[in-house]
Amino acid sequence: MTRRILHIDMDAFFASVEQARNPLLQGKPLIIGGDHSDTRGVVCTASYEARTYGIHSGMSLAEAKRRCPHALFMRGNFEHYRNASERVYTILESVSPCIEFASIDESYVDITGSLRLFGGENAIAHHIKDTIRKELHLPCTVGIASNKLVAKIATNEAKPDGYRSIENGKESAFLRPLPVHKLPGIGPRTCEILESLGIMTIGALADLPSELMLYTFGVNGYLLQRAARGESSSEVTPFSIPKSISRETTFEQDLLDWHRIEQTLIYLAERAGYALREQRMEARCISLKVRYADFQTVTFAHTCTEPTCIDSDIIHVLQGLLPKAQKRRVRVRLVGVSLSSLRYYSPQMSLFGKERSEKWNRVLEKVDQIRKRHGFELIRMASSIGLGRRVCLATPSLSR
Ligand SMILES: [Mg+2]
Repeated sequence: MTRRILHIDMDAFFASVEQARNPLLQGKPLIIGGDHSDTRGVVCTASYEARTYGIHSGMSLAEAKRRCPHALFMRGNFEHYRNASERVYTILESVSPCIEFASIDESYVDITGSLRLFGGENAIAHHIKDTIRKELHLPCTVGIASNKLVAKIATNEAKPDGYRSIENGKESAFLRPLPVHKLPGIGPRTCEILESLGIMTIGALADLPSELMLYTFGVNGYLLQRAARGESSSEVTPFSIPKSISRETTFEQDLLDWHRIEQTLIYLAERAGYALREQRMEARCISLKVRYADFQTVTFAHTCTEPTCIDSDIIHVLQGLLPKAQKRRVRVRLVGVSLSSLRYYSPQMSLFGKERSEKWNRVLEKVDQIRKRHGFELIRMASSIGLGRRVCLATPSLSR
């Protein structure tokens, strides 16, 4: 059976949330990313009024100010955007349980099973748009097609505050006249190569001989051409928010050496922090778990005022909890770290007044990239290196 996939993208999301909260901002060129005194930042979101001056996300604030000196500049408040995003999610949930949260302002919903119940896809699209407009006073755009790729392009073509549906079988006809850069995944470099080959439209790309595509772009050429033909098989994968992320290990022999226990704990914290960031989440509650040789198990928890995904923050909390566990003079059999009260973390978070974390986020981003490529063990905290280059944890070791 052919699926029907709905893609929804909030229009100028951060700017629209601010405009909905403050009527004085409505109809004005509004730029989120930094206030008037910020000279080094970039535009995070520009309202549609600001876009008419050629201002777009990623542009430097200085350039935006030059193009539109009377624009309003705000640093923004991530909490507000996250709350709005969660409310949108709840509205989508009323239509179908199969929702993929693509980013804070963008989701895919598989509505195949909901079509009959709601009286067709047009009814679903309008229900979603109207409910979001009524409850949150926010504009959004909806695209519907047989797959995620075409649904997303349909949304982009219908922006702002629009709706576009592409019938099954009409995917290719819809894509053909569009310029190649409208195909998601085509960067400026690929675009340049295609244009030098005289390939201006998605249709022309679809018609190129497959051998030429393979020769010019390798395996990517094949994927690119499939996309150009409107073919995509990636499914809507619902994502449920994990309750907690924990890592624990049982020592080979019960230990009374608290230095060694602390080193192990730091190592576990690094693993848990890495998993947390991989999920693009941050935690407010950090707990230490200790099982003694007599099997008595204790957990000590600390709730931070601000959620974090930074290793050194997590470790600092754990080190503060350790003395509580040390009060019992009994050997330790197992230690563990658990991170809970989880929430989504946004890479843009540093724009919203978390300057202290900014440096750490950048460092950890690099570290995580290297770990993804070369394995976790390559980069670790100096304090856990004492455990040796390769940490062998006894089974049951790193529980999820
Ligand atoms: Mg958007």
